[in-house]
Amino acid sequence: MERRKFIRSAALGTAAGAVLTGCGSQSGDAPAVQTDTPMLRWRLASSFARSLDTIYRAAEVMSERVSQLTNGRFTIRVYPAGEMVPAFEVLESVQKGTVQMGHSAGYYYIGKNLAFVFETTVPFGLNARQFNSWVYEGGGLEILRELFADYGVLNYPGGNTGAQMGGWFNREINSLLDLRGLSMRIPGLGGRVMDRLGVTVQQIPGGEIYPALERGAIDAAEWVGPYDDEKLGFNQVANYYYYPGWWEPGANLSFFVNQQAMQELPSSYQAALEVAMAEANQYMLAKYDALNPPAFQRILESNIELRVFPKDVMDAAYSASEELLQEGRTDPGFAQVHDSFLAWRRDSDDWIHTAEYALFSYMHERTQARGRLRHSECPKNQVREKDQEDQTYDLNSYKRDDSPID
Ligand code: CA
Repeated sequence: MERRKFIRSAALGTAAGAVLTGCGSQSGDAPAVQTDTPMLRWRLASSFARSLDTIYRAAEVMSERVSQLTNGRFTIRVYPAGEMVPAFEVLESVQKGTVQMGHSAGYYYIGKNLAFVFETTVPFGLNARQFNSWVYEGGGLEILRELFADYGVLNYPGGNTGAQMGGWFNREINSLLDLRGLSMRIPGLGGRVMDRLGVTVQQIPGGEIYPALERGAIDAAEWVGPYDDEKLGFNQVANYYYYPGWWEPGANLSFFVNQQAMQELPSSYQAALEVAMAEANQYMLAKYDALNPPAFQRILESNIELRVFPKDVMDAAYSASEELLQEGRTDPGFAQVHDSFLAWRRDSDDWIHTAEYALFSYMHERTQARGRLRHSECPKNQVREKDQEDQTYDLNSYKRDDSPID
């Protein structure tokens, strides 16, 4: 509070003197640049590795724009995961004020509050456009803000990956039974669903997945999609690339800003920061949509086997996801966000599925007819004899008594 007063009065004091650079210009047409604003240096902790020029880069895009919009007077230094703060401790660091802001994902922190998962994505949830419409225009941001207010943090959309792939597997998944005992890196609610399907779930930051897959510490891993996955080298250490990434139909990354630090900013800096964060949000999705298609083509042309998840896996995952979301509703805060999310998804799905899905599913059939895609889907007749014997298998049999992953 005191600091806020100080900054405001300092700004007013300087404004009285109306110090403008460029005023001495003889021609009088030089740009008038206000200097009645403080020089500020912020630090941003990212949950991501510097090598990821999609996710990590979005924070730099934001930082560069803030500096530009404030004539270099408000700068934000971006620190990659682990350099200042461990990948999964960004929220705590912003809360404590160790850094003024972070770039992370809400679902890394569902151990604190399960409802944080809605801030990133939930299985079978919203795609990127639906998410942005919900948070920017559908009251989603306000409702999510109430959750983060308990931590003294303001959350902002900070880039979306678009629909993700289902990840890299070192063994074939021909039925639900093949998931049992599999060790997989997968975060968020998707991880909890996989846990119920019998998978041993591991939380591993993006930069550490490759060595874990390579040395066999895990059998499978998911990250984002073709561009990042190829960059991280997963195609060198796993043979089967599964889709769809039903747990992340459009993962939103987040900027977390310390509430007090935000309040202490001059209003022009607050506006610059918000504009730059919104630009970064758009940048990341456009970047992924530009880089994933050529990377996907390279994967199609390689020896990697592209596989679709079997229907019994999809059905069990859907059931387990719905169950987990229902269980979360014992927390009134969770139920409030869930209600808002459900209402938005229902109407948005009706509209998007009618207007777009019908067109694009037709286009997809035409594309396949031209032989451009080489999917090695799990054919129905490929179901193993063992599974055929297991005709009494029902979807509820995935249930286990193990405690939650965290
Ligand atoms: Ca992912």
